[in-house]
Amino acid sequence: MEEIVKKWDEVLDYLKTEYSISDVSYNSWLKPLELFQIEDNKLYITYNGDQNQMTIGYITRKYATPIKVTIAEITGTQFDEIIFITQENANQIKKEKNIDLIKIEETNSFEEKRIGNSTINPKFTFDNFVVGRNNRFAQTAALAVAESPGEFYNPLYIYGGPGLGKTHLMQAIGNYIENQNPNTYILYVTSEEFTNEVIENMRTNNNATAMQRFRDKYRTVDVLMVDDIQFIIGKEATQEEFFHTFNALHAMGKQIVISSDKPPKDMETLDDRFKSRFDMGLMADIGYPDYETRMAILNKKIEEKNFNLDESIRKYIAENIQSNIREIEGALNKLIAFSRLEKIDITMDIAERELQNFISPNISREITPQLIIEVVAEHFNITVDQMASKNRSSSVVRPRQIAMYLCNTMTDSSLQAIGLLLGGRDHSTIIHGANKIEDEIIKDENTKNLVETIKKKINPN
Ligand code: ADP
Ligand code: MG
Repeated sequence: MEEIVKKWDEVLDYLKTEYSISDVSYNSWLKPLELFQIEDNKLYITYNGDQNQMTIGYITRKYATPIKVTIAEITGTQFDEIIFITQENANQIKKEKNIDLIKIEETNSFEEKRIGNSTINPKFTFDNFVVGRNNRFAQTAALAVAESPGEFYNPLYIYGGPGLGKTHLMQAIGNYIENQNPNTYILYVTSEEFTNEVIENMRTNNNATAMQRFRDKYRTVDVLMVDDIQFIIGKEATQEEFFHTFNALHAMGKQIVISSDKPPKDMETLDDRFKSRFDMGLMADIGYPDYETRMAILNKKIEEKNFNLDESIRKYIAENIQSNIREIEGALNKLIAFSRLEKIDITMDIAERELQNFISPNISREITPQLIIEVVAEHFNITVDQMASKNRSSSVVRPRQIAMYLCNTMTDSSLQAIGLLLGGRDHSTIIHGANKIEDEIIKDENTKNLVETIKKKINPN
């Protein structure tokens, strides 16, 4: 053991160069590794980095073999197995000398890649993506996919509200792969672009040729990314075409990355065929950033844009713009433009005046039944009027009942007041609706997650 401890840094260095591991990968996966113990010729290594459901499994699949080989190379010791454990496991073992073993699977090396074009904006990378509690899992998942396209997590499905970094992460995957392997054919499209192409093809006279060209384009890629998939919902022909594209690529082991504003299970009108396809891969959500993360992102953007901005004004922005990073950037851009135009430094007075449109009053949004009804309606893509209407179709009844439940649990409003806002319903209807959702939350994991997601939208902090 001692010898390995002594040479551990050397092992890591060798790994990094020998396997061309990027800085971000190195810092995420390898640097946090620490030797723990040897038992039965098995080497146990703890991972002390950020943990989530996939970290240990991923490191095991990706790095166990390279580490084993490198240790043999540098120290001459040949272990039967390398086993990664969490710090928690390690503490457990120290207590009882007994653990869950994680099996090592052989990793496949990358396939040869064909030449192709790409549509990736070099501006968005992992290096300039700030990691916080809200996006850590999504960032880890995206990095894993970027390192091993088509291998472990296919499709990767990233979801979250507007302006929270979905497109940035997708583009970062594209840039990373392109950097590591310039011959990879990466295709990034928004779902509108995809839809338009499908429609365009159906319109052309020579349908068969056009369709063939379309299929040649989409089915020869190595990595397909479709941004904002929620917009193909309800578009029959487009869904159909995407479904076949998806299956063809997936069967060939090509990586697919999808983003959406909600998880598949909440896209009520999405074809069930898709839900089961998406379930084969990995889902990662991006939540709302906390204050520290907002501040870190703002600082990063200020640095990128080479601007001078007083700390108090930075705080003012990060405190007041809470649920959308795009708006934080918008506010910053506005101040930069003003400063350059007027050739003056930004003071607090100027910031307050110029950012009026971005910044609602200093207090955070009060949670009212009105707010809840608005957020629920938006989540389900229906109108507030529909929520309050007599409409009894399930696509409206369920959101309405969820609103009843949330109004009843998140505010002090009376049942009468809630009923009034929801189209003059009486208090027994509200109780019935709220109880129904409450029961479902206990019995059904999906409802529980759905309600939690909406709660987060209502109250990001
Ligand atoms: P979405 O696709 O989820 O609507 P984007 O990826 O377009 O959001 O992000 C909006 C803006 O916010 C982009 O300019 C992006 O660079 C920035 N942004 C979002 N999250 C981060 C982050 N964690 N670090 C740095 N910039 C971020
Ligand atoms: Mg986007």
